[in-house]
Amino acid sequence: MRCLITGGAGFIGSHLADHLLALGHEVVVLDDLSTGSLSNLDGRVRFVYGSVCDSDVVDSCMAGVDAIYHLAAAVGVFTILRKTLSSLHTNLHGTQTMLEAARRYEVPILVTSTSEVYGKNTADRLSEDDDRIIGSPLVNRWSYAEAKALDETLTHLYAQEYGVSGVIVRLFNTVGPRQSPNYGMVIPRFVEQALANEPITVFGDGQQVRSFIHVLDVVPALVALMNDRGAHGTVYNLGNSEEISIADLAQRVIAATGSRSTVIKVPYDEAYGPGYEDMLRRIPDCSRARERIGFRPRYSLDDIIASLIADRARTSAFANTVQVG
Ligand code: UDP
Repeated sequence: MRCLITGGAGFIGSHLADHLLALGHEVVVLDDLSTGSLSNLDGRVRFVYGSVCDSDVVDSCMAGVDAIYHLAAAVGVFTILRKTLSSLHTNLHGTQTMLEAARRYEVPILVTSTSEVYGKNTADRLSEDDDRIIGSPLVNRWSYAEAKALDETLTHLYAQEYGVSGVIVRLFNTVGPRQSPNYGMVIPRFVEQALANEPITVFGDGQQVRSFIHVLDVVPALVALMNDRGAHGTVYNLGNSEEISIADLAQRVIAATGSRSTVIKVPYDEAYGPGYEDMLRRIPDCSRARERIGFRPRYSLDDIIASLIADRARTSAFANTVQVG
């Protein structure tokens, strides 16, 4: 198969590209390199530079494509808060452009959504049919959840009205090598701070709870859902149910790195600006994906932290080599 991955130079997209290449598929990557990097890409990938909002560029990628994995998006809380309007535009119009391409070329599409759509729902385990509890449309953080929720609705309506074969995945906090600490994601930030023996910045009181899934558990599930046409027409949570508070996560990272870092509590207003609203708890129920494709994460939180530490060591060794060279 020839697969198009939008956002394929990014963190999750590049791991998906590696996985599809290993399965013997051809891979075309469309990416504007806003947060992705060419250094993430295997040399066998055909790379196209451009935006998912540009239908001419999208057209130029579509020849012979059998499947679209739409991962391109503005991601990370810092990105959303710094560039709220352009992020909203990319996350809405990019998906609509890709759904149009899926319709015109009659190609199946996987659309990546987010656990953020559940908003402030603190249910013990969030399942796909649960209600969304979202704050005011004027609180910038929610613009990401709003855009992704509309992307889901668009995917649903393109299936209903145009017969596009689409499947939606809601990714819970996904972590792994190549993930940058620059866009706010907590584990890459804590690992970087710990390795530098700098203070670990816990935002709020640290009692908020998350669960983290390794990117290498997510990627095969994306492919399995794409390839299972019976799975299309609905939405799947993909995440891990091992839960931890952010305060405990800081201690876990300090222990794993042997760091001399202290932990400091940073008020939300200081971390993100005034009026920020966080989710207190976000844990998935993944029984739908488990029943459909046998989804079962293999990597624990300790594995995830260890893989990030190894990745930081590898990239700083590389940076030193380049500097010396
Ligand atoms: N967080 C933190 N310190 C940081 C970065 C994030 O305490 O340096 C917190 C953040 O406020 C949130 C949690 O860690 O409660 C997860 O943040 P992330 O941005 O990784 O993902 P989110 O679940 O918010 O989408």
